[in-house]
Amino acid sequence: MFDFLAVTLSGEPVSEPSGQTETLDWQWRGEGILELSPRQPCETAAVISAGVHGNETAPIELLSQLVSELLSGERLLRTRLLVLLGNPPSMRINKRYVDTDMNRMFGGRHARYKPNDETRRAQELEQVMALFYRSAAAAGATQRLHYDLHTAIRGSRHVRFGLLPFQARPPAQSMLEWLDAAGLDALVHHRSPGGTFTHFSSDVFQADSCTLELGKALPFGSNDHAQFTGIRRALETLVSGEPLPAREAAAPLVHYRVVQDVIRSKEDFQLFVPADAVNFTAFSQGYVIAQENGRIYKVEADEEAVLFPNPNVALGLRAGLMLVKM
Ligand code: ZN
Repeated sequence: MFDFLAVTLSGEPVSEPSGQTETLDWQWRGEGILELSPRQPCETAAVISAGVHGNETAPIELLSQLVSELLSGERLLRTRLLVLLGNPPSMRINKRYVDTDMNRMFGGRHARYKPNDETRRAQELEQVMALFYRSAAAAGATQRLHYDLHTAIRGSRHVRFGLLPFQARPPAQSMLEWLDAAGLDALVHHRSPGGTFTHFSSDVFQADSCTLELGKALPFGSNDHAQFTGIRRALETLVSGEPLPAREAAAPLVHYRVVQDVIRSKEDFQLFVPADAVNFTAFSQGYVIAQENGRIYKVEADEEAVLFPNPNVALGLRAGLMLVKM
């Protein structure tokens, strides 16, 4: 049986680039890029990606497992599906990236970087996604989805959360219901465009897109898959066109919107978030979050929560986001 993850990690060319089972056709469209098409027409074209950061292994294992179940016939496919393992070279060395963080370069931003394997890969993923959505539309699929699966570097007050890309239209109700059923604890609404994979799919293809942060990154084989039950069930129902699973999380999902993008623009930039502060740690009004020559970032709302604080980013990049509850 074709093992999607093992074949991708091997880096070897595949012997058979396409094949079929009793119910579906599959095509290997490039390293870590697999398209699965059921024989009957379907409404939904879904892209599920993982491994855009190579050391975020649990979602990679989850996705590979789902592919195995579809190819073995154990699970029925009822959507057109493109599965992507984003950055195989960084997966092989268990690193977030080799040279450059790919999840800042989508939407053509890769052209601003010195060309390397990651800029080329980002461009390849953009092209493969465009081709997939186009051919799915030609085959009658009217709904486009993209879920990009990640795990976070630091701990988090909300263990599982989603990031909705900035878009002019409101997020689709069907997606919000799916995210809720998947057991996410929080959902963050971006307020400005970015170079993420989901911003690209939302912006260019009007896909219902969300970046999912599903826990903490651990090496391959060390993941506790029990904590991924909610998302696994939700992905299964998505690809098989089944009713949504019941939400298992105890507390209701909390919505946040971004109110400040903290940018490191000067060499003397200082971030006043403790190094061990987990994501969504709250700070009170007036607290100085960061400071650099000519600029002070203060908490303006009664309370703001910090997300992805990182004082060591390159100049011009985001050193953290400040959020308020919606
Ligand atoms: Zn990630």
